[in-house]
Amino acid sequence: MAVSVSVLASGSRGNTAIVESSSTRILVDAGISCRETFKRVRALGGDPHSLSAIVITHEHADHVYGLGALARSLKVPIFMTGATHQAWVRSVRDATGEPPEVPKIEVFFPGRGFRIGDIEVRPFTIPHDAADPVGFALRAEGVKIGFVTDLGYVPASVCDHLRGSDVLILESNHDLEMLRGGPYPWSVKQRVMSRVGHLSNDKLAEFFARDYDGRAAFIVLAHLSEQNNHPEIARSAAEMALGHRRSLLENRVLLAKQSEALEPLRL
Ligand SMILES: [Zn+2]
Ligand SMILES: [Zn+2]
Repeated sequence: MAVSVSVLASGSRGNTAIVESSSTRILVDAGISCRETFKRVRALGGDPHSLSAIVITHEHADHVYGLGALARSLKVPIFMTGATHQAWVRSVRDATGEPPEVPKIEVFFPGRGFRIGDIEVRPFTIPHDAADPVGFALRAEGVKIGFVTDLGYVPASVCDHLRGSDVLILESNHDLEMLRGGPYPWSVKQRVMSRVGHLSNDKLAEFFARDYDGRAAFIVLAHLSEQNNHPEIARSAAEMALGHRRSLLENRVLLAKQSEALEPLRL
């Protein structure tokens, strides 16, 4: 088997995905419980104990909720930046009185690539209100996967890192009108809309129209807000911006879900 990508959960209640080559499987973020992660991996026919590492984008709870339990249960290392690690340890200590106990932390630096088995991981800085948030460009067996959720806007540096991706997993968080008219307090609305908040359907559409190279086979819209977005609104904004570039072989738009895993994308 070649490379596959499985988005197990995506949204403000938890994010986690698996990227898999012939010889290596890694978990990207660990935002749902260990038990639920195992359940979803098994539902796709996989074995959670074949995972070899966990890589983390940032310390917000919807990306690390199951992290400690998963790392202990799988006995695998966690890869994260030093600042993300410190922020995570602090939040676990504040919540439980004890720092998290995990087998091994491997610190990485945004902009500096590293390898896990035969998967090359290149982390890069994204604009979001966390300690040291990153997106990832992952490469294995000639396939490139661009992975970016939780960002207020798409800077030129992020466009550069995403260029040439065969699979794009991108945030399409909210519809601006739904957010403005929705139930969140004004302070939260401002945070979500800010340059270090979350990406709206419109801002993602702008990326597709202006900066996207049109190369991906699959585009997964991720981290959709359940309150302030609707899957079909997100889909139509993306499809309109992609326009004639959509075909049976290229730029197929899929929607990641909160409550169940997406069928694995195989490349
Ligand atoms: Zn976040
Ligand atoms: Zn998030």
